[in-house]
Amino acid sequence: MFFKVLGSSNPTRLFVAGIHGDEEAITRPIFEMMIKDIKITSGRLIVVSLSRDCPYISTLNEAYYDSTNGKKLLELIQEYRPEIYGELHTYKRDNHLNLIDPERRKNIGVPPFTELEEKVLIGSVSPFIRTCEFKKEDFCFTLEMPDPYSEKALQIVLHILRSISLSSSRDEILEKLREHYPRQIRDVEKNFREFFRDMKNILFF
Ligand SMILES: [Zn+2]
Repeated sequence: MFFKVLGSSNPTRLFVAGIHGDEEAITRPIFEMMIKDIKITSGRLIVVSLSRDCPYISTLNEAYYDSTNGKKLLELIQEYRPEIYGELHTYKRDNHLNLIDPERRKNIGVPPFTELEEKVLIGSVSPFIRTCEFKKEDFCFTLEMPDPYSEKALQIVLHILRSISLSSSRDEILEKLREHYPRQIRDVEKNFREFFRDMKNILFF
């Protein structure tokens, strides 16, 4: 397991890759690039890549949290109690339309991802953890990176991860994201606000 802590005290940001073992080959090097030369001036950033030896189970399936990686993930969240939590995943290009499908909520019960640009997608995290492990005002996000990805997609993901690493609150993060992606962030907020309001009265994302 790859594990690095930069900075100290709060706010605590936890970024996790290798949630699905076979994605680790792409997501772990991205984390390594992301933390190179970064200076965390307030709070801490914990960057983790989980084991690659874990069979694929969707995080939308509760069984994931009983798998080796799922248990480890819950342990990390419960130990560090991050206010800012992010997962980096990858997806195969033929899954792109499923992930952004406006009917996704009707079909599989969760809102679609929103494309930022260059096939890089953003959304919230699994409702299993968003509703139980985090506070309403925490900021939880998932970035989905296409596999294979373009150089531009890599730069976008690195930029977003660094910019969130250097932010201290949900409001600051949303403000920065809105600067580049006003329409997209409006869509994400709308999708997740409705979803979590119907579910447990939790504010989006
Ligand atoms: Zn994944």
